[in-house]
Amino acid sequence: MSTLNTNIDRLNGYLARFQDTGIQNLINGQTVPAASGVTFDTTSPVDESVICSVARSSAADVDAAAEAAKAAFPAWRDMPALERKKILIKIAEGIEARAEEIAFCECWDTGQALRFMSKAALRGAENFRFFADQVTAARDGKNLQSPTLMNVTTRVPIGPVGVITPWNTPFMLSTWKIAPALAAGCTVVHKPAEFSPLTARILAEIAHEAGLPDGVWNLVNGFGEDAGKRLTEHPAIKAVAFVGESRTGSLITKQGADTLKRLHLELGGKNPVVVFEDADLERALDAVIFMIYSINGERCTSSSRLLVQDSIREEFEAKLVERVNNIRVGHPLDPATEIGPLIAQEHFDKVTSYFDIAKEDGATVAAGGVTVGDAGFFVRPTLFTGAHNKMRIAQEEIFGPVLTSIPFATEEEALEMANDTDYGLTGYVWTADLTRALRFTNHLEAGMIWVNSENVRHLPTPFGGVKASGIGRDGGDWSFDFYMEQKHIGFALGQHKIPRLGA
Ligand code: NAD
Repeated sequence: MSTLNTNIDRLNGYLARFQDTGIQNLINGQTVPAASGVTFDTTSPVDESVICSVARSSAADVDAAAEAAKAAFPAWRDMPALERKKILIKIAEGIEARAEEIAFCECWDTGQALRFMSKAALRGAENFRFFADQVTAARDGKNLQSPTLMNVTTRVPIGPVGVITPWNTPFMLSTWKIAPALAAGCTVVHKPAEFSPLTARILAEIAHEAGLPDGVWNLVNGFGEDAGKRLTEHPAIKAVAFVGESRTGSLITKQGADTLKRLHLELGGKNPVVVFEDADLERALDAVIFMIYSINGERCTSSSRLLVQDSIREEFEAKLVERVNNIRVGHPLDPATEIGPLIAQEHFDKVTSYFDIAKEDGATVAAGGVTVGDAGFFVRPTLFTGAHNKMRIAQEEIFGPVLTSIPFATEEEALEMANDTDYGLTGYVWTADLTRALRFTNHLEAGMIWVNSENVRHLPTPFGGVKASGIGRDGGDWSFDFYMEQKHIGFALGQHKIPRLGA
């Protein structure tokens, strides 16, 4: 049984190489510093210590990476599908072989608890295996006969693509975007979040060790406003898959306009979980707690707004308070820890500012609402009660372990409140009444809805949001719709009549 101390020893072993060399870029198969030589430090949210230096890339580095991706594209596109598939499976095997290193580094870099991150590494491998299996069918199309033409469709990879990822669960999210891009036959320039660059570097190394040709996967570290911005503007980059905040999604849309970038935007959420009086309340309680307090609440799909029916509110909230007060906050590498520190000072400041905002707006801090310790960015899991849906704590994405509970009387009122938000990523409905579940989900404005369940991902299903939560879907074949172009070719079946102008 691993303990915190043995885990920290093992972590130090994994970190030594980063401390020696820092994190550099990987462009055209070469490990290189930023052209300017500029670096920045990445720090651990656990104790605010410096982990290592990181290349701070500018437009010149992104240009080099995009040109490498462009040069590598034709050969990767034309590689026989089965060969591509073999490389993707080798990447999955490489992830599995380094799962502990990935999980430990991710915990230290992001503050996420090991109990969740050990699975994140394996889910990353699963993403590669899943899309490896889809490679051979990716180009398949339809045969749409007309009286005069045999029309066939096929899909072709769109070209080099940019992938921009956020700091929450960065490893899993990177694999979720990059695996289908490679499976489709695209080459990639990846810009990971500046707050959590460690595992993106490990992932790119695994890919190259698996035999990925140079230039197919390029890693450029740095900040959004320079490296990220250039990636969204570069003419060789045909599409950008972005995961991050809604306001960054708007910026990227503007930045990509001149080069008519195809964009997939996976953005923020303020997701409702609606608990009706007829629900299985014990299961609902488990799911409500899991969906806001796991992954430090730094989770786009978290159910951060609890809408609970009047008749059960008091009992449900009382049980919630008891459980929330029992949640273990601690070192992310302690196997017992359920919540680790928030990612960084500025995010900690943002999350904790809502403790006062809640009180100013007249809500009650029923649990938590306090910070923990003097070093690192730890907060107690927090529950606000006595809230209504117009309050800032009910409308704004806090992105921490903070739940706002709001009572409702009728199904109509619950639906109106659930939809009264700028966002529309996920929704969760708890009821024993099937007809109500059908009616409610039919009108709930969200890209993904679970009934009597927490968020359980199934890789072939579409992932994405509506309203300010995003544009586009990925998952299963939807990923190929994004990373590929549909092509139609019409073959004349005979000598059909062609209009004769000027004859
Ligand atoms: P962010 O938008 O600040 O940053 C995300 C990435 O975009 C980073 O790599 C950053 O460097 C880059 N970036 C910033 N400005 C840019 C610009 N002008 N041009 C190009 N790139 C730029 O988001 P964050 O704080 O890292 O992540 C948290 C947010 O991500 C939350 O809002 C969360 O809901 C969202 N998120 C959404 C999903 C989803 O699937 N919908 C999943 C995870 C996280």
